[in-house]
Amino acid sequence: MKKGDYIVMAFSILLVGVLCFFLYGQKKNEALYVEIIVGNEVVDSLPLNQDTVYSVNGVDLTVKIEDKQVCVMDTGCPDGLCKAAGRISQAGRSIICLPQKVIVRINGTFPVDAVAGGMCP
Ligand SMILES: [Zn+2]
Repeated sequence: MKKGDYIVMAFSILLVGVLCFFLYGQKKNEALYVEIIVGNEVVDSLPLNQDTVYSVNGVDLTVKIEDKQVCVMDTGCPDGLCKAAGRISQAGRSIICLPQKVIVRINGTFPVDAVAGGMCP
């Protein structure tokens, strides 16, 4: 093989590697995390792949992460819509509690999201 062939081959391998990373990254749930937003501030972020029960500071709201899904387990808001919203598991989805100004949002940790530009901050 000529020197040029090696370069083409190396480039191809690199390209396949990048493609795999992108495809893998999009399918992988482990890369997701849950953002807890109170008012306009992100007060905490939790990995979606770790089962936990989390009480939001300062408000009467508890979220539960289980099986890579998140839901509002307990809330003191009058309408209870956030609890009724059920479980979410996909990036970009969110549960909003209007009375308490709390947003529970799923985000991806991969920089791929920023490149794709699909997410509104
Ligand atoms: Zn609520």
